[in-house]
Amino acid sequence: MQTLRQIAILLCAGVIFAGCSELEKRAFSPQVSGELAAMGMQTASYENGVVTLTGRSGTIRLKNESQWAEIGNIPITLTGNSTISSEGVLDIPDLIFKTQLEPIIADRRFPIRRIVLDPGHGGSDRGASSAHGADEKKLNLLLAQTIAYELKKRGFEVFLTRSNDSFVSLDERPAAVKKFKADLFVSIHHNSAPRQGACGFEIYSLRCNDPQEMANSGSSANLAYHLYRALAPLNHFPGRGVKAARFKVLRLAGIPAVLLEAGFLSNPVESAYLATPLYRQQFAVKFAETLAKF
Ligand SMILES: [Zn+2]
Repeated sequence: MQTLRQIAILLCAGVIFAGCSELEKRAFSPQVSGELAAMGMQTASYENGVVTLTGRSGTIRLKNESQWAEIGNIPITLTGNSTISSEGVLDIPDLIFKTQLEPIIADRRFPIRRIVLDPGHGGSDRGASSAHGADEKKLNLLLAQTIAYELKKRGFEVFLTRSNDSFVSLDERPAAVKKFKADLFVSIHHNSAPRQGACGFEIYSLRCNDPQEMANSGSSANLAYHLYRALAPLNHFPGRGVKAARFKVLRLAGIPAVLLEAGFLSNPVESAYLATPLYRQQFAVKFAETLAKF
């Protein structure tokens, strides 16, 4: 079981709570101390189950008994709940704080020069099928090639895990990291859902299960946050936020790694837009610019 970290948002003296349900209804101004204060978060409010922290690191919002968080208006799905006790103390599981919040608040960066781009699927594995005819495997490759071109223009060294319509196993893909001595692994996908209305860009970092993964997981989360800021607005549909998962390619990469889902091919309107060269070009330029500034 993960240990819970008290994040030290304590009640102002004199406020008495009857219990959690009562807490949900109250609005109050907690004090911020401890690690969050050290990170520049100074003022806080609590209303309708949401804590809002503000300070020189921007605005952070967390919801009681929920995985929902927001940093600077970017939605982040935590891998566990934040809880606010009846005494008004905010608790966030330690690994979640250290890998999904702290690296973003502190803007932890790492040097990037050599990048493995991994266009998902290929060969007999077609991936999602599009309402507009192009399979996911084809769109993943086209997008990866466009990104590679823009990265190389800016001086990055780029290696693709496949450069044609061939099948590459999930074990082989991250193996390219060692061969190429890469600093970053990026897996590129397009999404699909049974519900036609499902839409929007999303990006994943490695969900951390082991303290040994903490540094890479946190670095990936901060990069995912910056990429999301730049890329989500290019999609005409509302984004789905920054998430974390234990996808095999992210687990095996052993370096900072993200997996992006550019949008939903099962959505007829979105898939038409995703299939355009204009979208790929804009996406690739924003992607490369973000890495160049990182
Ligand atoms: Zn896919």
